[in-house]
Amino acid sequence: MNTIYFDNSATTKIKTEVLNEMMPFLTTEFGNASSLYSIGRKSKRAIERARKQVAQLINCNQNEIFFTAGGSESDNISLKGFSYANKEKGNHIITSKIEHPAILETCKFLEKQGFQVSYINVDENGFIKIDELKSEIRPSTILISVMAANNEIGTIQPIEQIAEIAHNHNIVFHTDAVQAVGNMHIDVSKMGIDMLSLSGHKIHAPKGIGALYIKNGIQVEKIVNGGHQEKDKRAGTENVAGIVGLGKACEIAHKNIETHIKYVTKLRDYYIGRLQKEMPKKIRINGSVENRLPGNANISFEGVNSSELIFKLDEKGICVSSGSACSSGKTSPSHVLQAINVPEKYLDSAIRTTFCDNNTFEEIDYLVKILKNL
Ligand SMILES: *Cc1c(COP(=O)(O)O)cnc(C)c1O
Repeated sequence: MNTIYFDNSATTKIKTEVLNEMMPFLTTEFGNASSLYSIGRKSKRAIERARKQVAQLINCNQNEIFFTAGGSESDNISLKGFSYANKEKGNHIITSKIEHPAILETCKFLEKQGFQVSYINVDENGFIKIDELKSEIRPSTILISVMAANNEIGTIQPIEQIAEIAHNHNIVFHTDAVQAVGNMHIDVSKMGIDMLSLSGHKIHAPKGIGALYIKNGIQVEKIVNGGHQEKDKRAGTENVAGIVGLGKACEIAHKNIETHIKYVTKLRDYYIGRLQKEMPKKIRINGSVENRLPGNANISFEGVNSSELIFKLDEKGICVSSGSACSSGKTSPSHVLQAINVPEKYLDSAIRTTFCDNNTFEEIDYLVKILKNL
């Protein structure tokens, strides 16, 4: 049985071109990038090339890209590293209620360390309440962190507007763009982004590699102490193969972004369109219809229990999710669906499908056929 994979927001399959690019660095080219001899220098060069590829995707300078062990670490450095380095300026952070746990849990940790955090509400489509955000700004506010696009409902935030508000008050703006990168145009200079987190395994590179963009001039304290790698911002012998894979994945994403967005949008609209026309059960689309990630559909099916449905679909070879991968497995309702006020009867019945270039209309037909017979 072929697996039909509709969970590309949880993780993605490594692209063949990405793996091919990585292979030498997992085999013959194993030098430590800090070593002076030639195989060491080769690793170093490969890292710098990847840095350029990542920088090109988000339009920053390559010396503003720092490699990390993934989106979670990038988020941790952005929040903790920035707060520690800037605590004499203030101790207040603003974020939203629908962030990924990598942000929310880090904020909770910082609260225990004496920092103050405001968690801003979102409206029924998942957009952050701008007036509330403005009213929470204090003289002690040093950082605003709002995700570019949500991992559960795909809502795309007005990042430029939020960055502008931050800058008007001399506040630094960070965005968790793990879901956004590769799925929408990101230009950090045009959008006014000061720090940005991204992750390899959400864009067809391996797990355990990520990057953080830190605009030149912004002070960030080290979280991982040790050697002086990554311009002394993040210690540890570089994950050369992972870095090379991330670089290649960014290059491909950059090259293909227009066709990618068009294709997955078509898949998603086809899926939603068929459900709206043909489902005998009542459905509810969770999140904004217009301003959402191209490949994301989050739909509740009245009277259906999403975890039961996930297992049922798994038996047919279809992978979907009930929300974020991190919260599946525990039974409490999604904090994101609660924040957008999804009615009780739709709260435990949400199914998230997230499409990628490898998916086909036939695969969607197969899923729709099963859903119609629930
Ligand atoms: C997946 C994800 C993360 C975590 O990234 P990892 O590389 O898995 O640590 C952070 N934020 C968002 C929005 C995500 O979707």
